[in-house]
Amino acid sequence: MRDKFYITTAIDYSNAPPHLGHAYEKISADAIARHFRQRGKDVIFLTGLDEHGSKIEKTAFEKGLTPEEHCNQIANYYLETWKKLNISYDIFYRTHSDIHIKSVQKIFNTLKEKGDLYIKEYQGLYCSGCESFYLEKDLDENGFCPNHKRKT
Ligand SMILES: [Zn+2]
Repeated sequence: MRDKFYITTAIDYSNAPPHLGHAYEKISADAIARHFRQRGKDVIFLTGLDEHGSKIEKTAFEKGLTPEEHCNQIANYYLETWKKLNISYDIFYRTHSDIHIKSVQKIFNTLKEKGDLYIKEYQGLYCSGCESFYLEKDLDENGFCPNHKRKT
C-alpha cells in the first residue's frame, strides 16, 4: 500500500474573482503536492470555494444575480485561473455542492439527535464586513469595528 498524503488549501471566499494571494497559496500547495507525487505518495490535493455568507448574498444582489448564479460565475473564474496556472488539484470543493449539503445535514442531525443543538436568542455586536461578533473591548475608541471603522 502506498503512503497517503493529503493537502488542502483554504477554501476561498466566493465574493470576488481570484487575486494574487489566492494564486500564491495554490501554487505553493501545488508544489508540495507534486513533490510528494514524485516520491510515490498517494496524494489528494483539495481546494475549493466557500459559498456561504451575507457578503456573497449582498454582492450577488448588487450584480442583479441570485447567490447561486453569482457563485457559479465566481467558480468559473477560479477554475479557469487554476487551469491556466496548471494547478494539479484532485478535488475542487464547493460548499454549495450536494455532497457538502448532505454532509452538513448529517452532522447537524447527529448533533440534534444527541441533544447538542438548541435554539436560543443571541444578541451581540456584529460587523457584516468581518462576518464576526465583537465584544465592546474589541472595538476602537469610537466604538467602531477596528477593521472597517464603522458601527457594529
Ligand atoms: Zn469589520
